[in-house]
Amino acid sequence: MSTFLELGLKEPINKALTDLGYEKPTVIQEKAIPQIISSTTDLKAFAQTGTGKTAAFSLPILELLDENNGNVQAIILSPTRELAVQIGNNIKDFCKYLKNVKVTTVYGGSSMEEQIRSLKKGSQIVVGTPGRTVDLINRRALKLGNVQWLVLDEADEMLNMGFKDELDKVLDATPDTKQTLLFSATFPREVESIARNYMTNPIEITSGQKNQGAENVSHEYYSVTERTRYPALKRIADLNPDIYAIIFCRTRRETQEVADNLIKDGYSADSLHGDLSQGQRDSVMGKFRKKTIQILVATDVAARGLDVTELTHVLNHKLPDQIENYTHRSGRTGRAGNKGVSIVLVNGKEKGKLRQIEKIIQKKFIESKVPSGKEICQNQLMNLIDKVQNIEVNETQISEFLPSIFEKLEGLEREELIKKFVSLEFNTMLAYYENAKDLNDLSSRDNSRARASDENMTRFFINIGRKDNLNPGKLIGLINEQNIGDKVEIGSIDILDTFSFFEIDKNYEDKTLSAFLENQPDFDGRSVNVEITKKERGGAGGRRGGKKPFGKKDGGFGRRRSSDSSASSSRRSSDSGSRRPERRSDRPDRPDRSSRASSERSTGSDRNSGGFGRRRKES
Ligand code: AMP
Repeated sequence: MSTFLELGLKEPINKALTDLGYEKPTVIQEKAIPQIISSTTDLKAFAQTGTGKTAAFSLPILELLDENNGNVQAIILSPTRELAVQIGNNIKDFCKYLKNVKVTTVYGGSSMEEQIRSLKKGSQIVVGTPGRTVDLINRRALKLGNVQWLVLDEADEMLNMGFKDELDKVLDATPDTKQTLLFSATFPREVESIARNYMTNPIEITSGQKNQGAENVSHEYYSVTERTRYPALKRIADLNPDIYAIIFCRTRRETQEVADNLIKDGYSADSLHGDLSQGQRDSVMGKFRKKTIQILVATDVAARGLDVTELTHVLNHKLPDQIENYTHRSGRTGRAGNKGVSIVLVNGKEKGKLRQIEKIIQKKFIESKVPSGKEICQNQLMNLIDKVQNIEVNETQISEFLPSIFEKLEGLEREELIKKFVSLEFNTMLAYYENAKDLNDLSSRDNSRARASDENMTRFFINIGRKDNLNPGKLIGLINEQNIGDKVEIGSIDILDTFSFFEIDKNYEDKTLSAFLENQPDFDGRSVNVEITKKERGGAGGRRGGKKPFGKKDGGFGRRRSSDSSASSSRRSSDSGSRRPERRSDRPDRPDRSSRASSERSTGSDRNSGGFGRRRKES
């Protein structure tokens, strides 16, 4: 494995990469960087997001461009605004020590004037979405006559999104002498035709190991609400006594809060994010690598340099803003031949993103139910019994204590002894989960309320349901088959016995109706029809849904409200608190967010108590 310097990059770039925690090049970087540096031949790269492709194309450009020339020398096209911004920011990070290099990112939905001003100052690199790039070319604000590198990032996605004409225009605006670098996860006919028409004898490279570990990773999702997200997270940790996981969060604040709560609730956890000093980060990473900490709560950025091969789980407390980062997160587990599970907690609104991710990872998410208290206790007990069976007895060390122990336990039958021993280990957990509510039930109620208030979605009634063997996956398939639109977002889905509800982006309301009307689809021989249903405050509602929104005998708003309130009080006494509520009065009401020392204390002592993800603080 080479270093970045060995690939031909200069020290200022290498230094910036070190700052970012890039320790060694990825496969695609190893192949692309020297190739682009040493040759002007066009390049076709098969690379998915998460393989490090941004650095693969931008680092050699930074190496070669003329810092003292303010003309646009590289134009990078990317399909979405988010990706363009991400690429622009990445490049700014990479050229931190190249003082004269300027990068401008141009995309729709943001002030054109500001972008023009930035271009006028002279930028060697422009990153843009196709539409805005063409607008700026047409206004003569963006001049591509001196371009040496044209990068088409996620070319397949750009064509999927209908940017063929814009691509043609940008390609036409650049000189023939340029080097074209085309990055794509797939090479359908349209991408091949771009390559054929606009590239000259391109070299082909592939990232080799796409999504490292992807084969060994299964993907699960749990439906939650903001109320049940944290309790569900704890239950998942409790269900897996030997969990060794990273919990990914979107922001530093979210990361710190989740970590603080886990520590407060007795888990062997700690946080890793950009607000910590380098020393603190190194210390946390060291403890996690040594497994002194079982659960690391981290932001995407902070966890980047961390290479741990034995993670059992990756937990997505919230999905990343850039869904492409999901691959990067989930690829942290299932490495080196191990099996791994990537778990996502999603509320009703976030569910639509799962479909987009499925396209990227080319695998389906399995829906899982938040485990009940009984399932957790059973798992923990069986895990303990397995450990008892497998523990090696060190005869020489314990032999001197055994006579007095035998004497003390004399008179206890085998069965009684086992019961006492198990109770000693589990009374706290059994008591904690004794009256634990079904979080799945709470989530579906909460989600229904949240959905009802989502103004951007239109709720549809469909005349098929569970009795017709409909499930969410099949319903999504059926909706997709109607060709309503490429990127149409599907919101929450409620499958009831004989009919169901689903939500679609409001902008596609008419198209959805007309598509179903025109196509007249059937489902397992039953003709299907859909209608818009009115949203009602507080319920899954609609003409038919209003009275019995959830297909339950006892449905109805009054009842739901009252059970919700009892649910939240139970949450207070159970899931939102420590497993040992009787001790809570000892503790401050709010966790001490600033106290690193306290977190270290608790994780340190936790280590000694043995057992599961949630360490017991008693005895
Ligand atoms: P990309 O495929 O460019 O979206 O990169 C995926 C992620 O990997 C981003 O978070 C990058 O910052 C990170 N990354 C790229 N190259 C490296 C590297 N050599 N070492 C560590 N992280 C990297």
